[in-house]
Amino acid sequence: MSGNQEHQRRALSGMRPTGPLHLGNFHGALVNWVEMQHHYDCFFFIADWHALTTGYEDTGALATHTREVLIDWLAAGLDPAACTMFIQSRVPEHAELHLLLSMITPLGWLERVPTYKDQIEQLKDRDLGTYGFLGYPLLQSADILIYRPDFVPVGEDQVAHVEITREIARRFNSIYGREADFEARCRAAAAALGGEAGAARYAALRRAWTEQGDAAALAEARALVASAAGLSALDRERLLGFLVGGGRAILPEPAVLLTRAPRVPGTDGRKMSKSYGNTIGMREDPASVAKKLRTMQTDPARVRRSDPGEPEKCPVWDLHQLYSDAATQEWVQTGCRSAGIGCLDCKKPLTEAIVRQVEDFRARAREFERDPALLQDIVARGGDKARAAASATMAEVRSAMGLAGP
Ligand code: SF4
Repeated sequence: MSGNQEHQRRALSGMRPTGPLHLGNFHGALVNWVEMQHHYDCFFFIADWHALTTGYEDTGALATHTREVLIDWLAAGLDPAACTMFIQSRVPEHAELHLLLSMITPLGWLERVPTYKDQIEQLKDRDLGTYGFLGYPLLQSADILIYRPDFVPVGEDQVAHVEITREIARRFNSIYGREADFEARCRAAAAALGGEAGAARYAALRRAWTEQGDAAALAEARALVASAAGLSALDRERLLGFLVGGGRAILPEPAVLLTRAPRVPGTDGRKMSKSYGNTIGMREDPASVAKKLRTMQTDPARVRRSDPGEPEKCPVWDLHQLYSDAATQEWVQTGCRSAGIGCLDCKKPLTEAIVRQVEDFRARAREFERDPALLQDIVARGGDKARAAASATMAEVRSAMGLAGP
């Protein structure tokens, strides 16, 4: 697929505003987003309503956290000219779709979301027996489906989260996407896939998927439909729905875009996470970054300088893999195993590299920190673009559900 075709395809992702971001957030999500913005029509949103599902009691810092996340995105390299950044609560259509989807979502689907029980267990100090908390996966589904994205970028461990969204889209389309002359309309629409050859290719790929379960054929057929220039949005939905044996795909099922999610250890060796208090902030004071790295956990078996170590058992090595070139990594491997270098020697080039990156983030963030109007303008323009896309979907959803009025 050419870069140009890829650029037409939409990807969407969001992040809760829980405060300034750390290096785990940067490597786990932002690195991918920064790359994706040049290849896809990317929508990135700050999920402030989601922050309320677990933190509804104290919202005093919510606005500040939202601002900090936005600055971190920009410091990481997200470019308002290359992607759409917005705040969820500024696009109230998310709430409308959430409400409408709640009418058709069986309660059991929400109760069996794996993170539901886990989170209740983990956040025992909060009362999460609320309607909003049970419904957060549905709000997430509305957040996604309202933009009809082709992809949702996720790490391997989050694939299951997208599945409920796909199930809800299927249910919605099967209830509201039926048309009496659906097949005839699909055949007519297929003619716009590049003449007879394109229509025949679509038919063959659809057969390969529906009769033999050929997933590659399904992917190719979806790409064929997505890249056809002469199709109306409505016909595109019909052809996508026809592929999977349903009706018109008013809310197309998004595919998962598997992204690289390297292990980013915190200073105590566990996964870097705000809840463990082991983070290094993207814009943290460099002296504090250096201090944290100096005392960072290493291979526990390496007690004395003369003890050989094992990089595979050391979280510092995980960071070297993210920050150091091949020659430095080789130096660590050899020096650690032979006790030729001490842990402080080993941390030195790593600390320099991380501090350099943090200084870059801080420098890039400065103009945004100084200029609240600039930030407001970025999310206002992003919000306008998001609202236009969300309104178009909602017009179809209302009409399909019989809510269009007289
Ligand atoms: S030398 Fe480096 S890799 Fe080896 S234990 Fe020390 S910090 Fe870890």
